[in-house]
Amino acid sequence: MNDGQNMNDGQSMNDGQSMKSAILVIYTGGTIGMKEDPQDGTLKPFDFSQIKEEVPELNKFNVRIDSYTFSPLIDSSDVEPALWVNLAELIHERYEDYDGFVILHGTDTMAYSASALSFMLDGLTKPVIFTGSQLPIGVPRTDGKENLISAVEIASAKRADGSAEVPEVAIFFDARLLRGNRSTKYSAEAFNAFASPNLPPLAQAGINIRYNTEIIRKPSAAPLKVQTHLDCRVSILKIHPGITPAVARHSLCAPEIRACILETYGSGNAISKDWFLDIIKEADHLGKILLNVTQCKSGTVNMNLYATGATLKHSGVLSGQDITTEAALGKLFFLMGRSDNNKWVKKMLEKDLCGEITA
Ligand code: ASP
Repeated sequence: MNDGQNMNDGQSMNDGQSMKSAILVIYTGGTIGMKEDPQDGTLKPFDFSQIKEEVPELNKFNVRIDSYTFSPLIDSSDVEPALWVNLAELIHERYEDYDGFVILHGTDTMAYSASALSFMLDGLTKPVIFTGSQLPIGVPRTDGKENLISAVEIASAKRADGSAEVPEVAIFFDARLLRGNRSTKYSAEAFNAFASPNLPPLAQAGINIRYNTEIIRKPSAAPLKVQTHLDCRVSILKIHPGITPAVARHSLCAPEIRACILETYGSGNAISKDWFLDIIKEADHLGKILLNVTQCKSGTVNMNLYATGATLKHSGVLSGQDITTEAALGKLFFLMGRSDNNKWVKKMLEKDLCGEITA
């Protein structure tokens, strides 16, 4: 477990009021909590108490808010699967103490982390809401305040029967709540930084927060089960004009690789030249798991549409359907961590495990 710091912020924030919910805000780093280093002008992380000082509005919630700060705080470009394991273990340990969790995280890899956690936290009945910002929280035009406040509201929201409004891993950003494993970072500059091209938002924040209950997942009937063993032997090969046999062979056939995500054109098409198909067949014969994910921002792989796609299918490549690359990576890490049996992993890859593909 990470040597983070616990801070019980609750009691000072809600004096004299009855507590409705308790939320754990987990701070991992990212722009939301950064400020400019006067020495070199770069953004560096500061601690959670400073974030709270910048957002006094949090005191107005009738919610107990505790915080947990990871150490060291990181720019999310440095996220590794070990952080996901730490997050999953922390949520598991504190699961009974809180009604929901808010994870403050850099935007660069937020969609990867939210995707991975959606698989690792099997059987959620409580919200796990990722958020961050494009501008640091101390900057006048920051988007961090509104993102944090709404994320806390969503993490504590309950239905009439007392169950959580959003019992799943999601990303709240710029007034929209998106399913974590359907999201992708879409803009390096706009406040509207994330997109979920193949699934509408789970909620929209305006005057009220409107939940799209039709598509929000049902709470699990089984208890939370956390899987922390991940197998990261995955490569991602983006097909492009001019790709060479040496590059393709390395990503597909190298001994250290168990699975390759092929980012293909359009509805799942790749090069129809013999040299490329021979490498695909070689990878298949070597027992590699080959998953076809489209480079397009929206839509689905359909390997029956064009001859080039059909050839891939007949050479052992599986359809990733409308999965994002981020979710495909998390799903592979998770399934391969669970079993050494590639046949089983391939079978499970085609199933919808937690809303990551349109079944
Ligand atoms: N580089 C930052 C990070 O991902 C960007 C951000 O937070 O928006 O940690």
